[in-house]
Amino acid sequence: MSRTVYVNGDYLPEEEARISIFDRGFLMADGVYEVTTVLGGKLVDFDGHAKRLERSLKELEMDAPCTMDELLAIHRALIEKNAITDGTVYLQVTRGNPGDRDFAWPEPPVKPTLVMFTTAKPGFADSPLSKTGIEVITVPDIRWGRRDIKTVQLLYPSMAKMMAKKAGVSDAWFVEDGLVTEGYSNNAYIVKNGQIITRALSNDILHGITRAAVLRFAREAQMEVVERSFTPEEAYGADEAFCTSASSFVMPIVKIDAATIGAGTPGPVATRLREIYIDEMRKSAI
Ligand code: PLP
Repeated sequence: MSRTVYVNGDYLPEEEARISIFDRGFLMADGVYEVTTVLGGKLVDFDGHAKRLERSLKELEMDAPCTMDELLAIHRALIEKNAITDGTVYLQVTRGNPGDRDFAWPEPPVKPTLVMFTTAKPGFADSPLSKTGIEVITVPDIRWGRRDIKTVQLLYPSMAKMMAKKAGVSDAWFVEDGLVTEGYSNNAYIVKNGQIITRALSNDILHGITRAAVLRFAREAQMEVVERSFTPEEAYGADEAFCTSASSFVMPIVKIDAATIGAGTPGPVATRLREIYIDEMRKSAI
């Protein structure tokens, strides 16, 4: 069945949605995005995603297409029109259509483009993979230097996903200067002697909305969190590993490259954090 999608003020059947070939999102990857999870028909951590969107726009000197309250209303309208119980809402803002191709940004700015669509993922909080855990490979991180901005420049992450697929695993962890930065679309963690270890925030990684919530819940549950970098070798010898993202929540990792992690099954810390995160997010969803 065709979805109803949102394009610059209009709700349309997906087949009728159109964007100009001169849109800078299309020509220059000059755009930012957010993916917000829907659980039980409600938005998970909308405020966190809205704040990160505002920050991404500011860092790129891009105008906001509307207020954050209007954005919330569009999210809710799409959830309702598409009868989404569990799934995601994708949002993309680009620097708009200046009418031609030019490296320089249009001055004065043109109207930003805003597109949004839903993806239904019935029951995805109970994903079978979360029970078995996933396997990952490590690949060189050759992305640009502002990974804290959530841009639509996703070619290399797509290539990393294909490398993982060809290796017969689900995910790839990026490694730069001998240290793990993050997953191709998630933040990366290891657990050793009860400590939850994850790279500190900087321009090197995306400031995950799920990461912020999971670290908060971990600290509230008296778990020890250490924000520092780690090597793949340290990860091979970890007791547990996991990753976090809006659409995978907390996902246990049971193998990294050739190394089986812990007992090769989801560890207690990742399993507990996943439970807490999903419970708390169901309660606070709006
Ligand atoms: N890191 C990268 C590179 C990502 O693309 C994502 C999500 O798309 C994340 C981390 C996790 O961020 P969030 O928890 O906000 O989904």
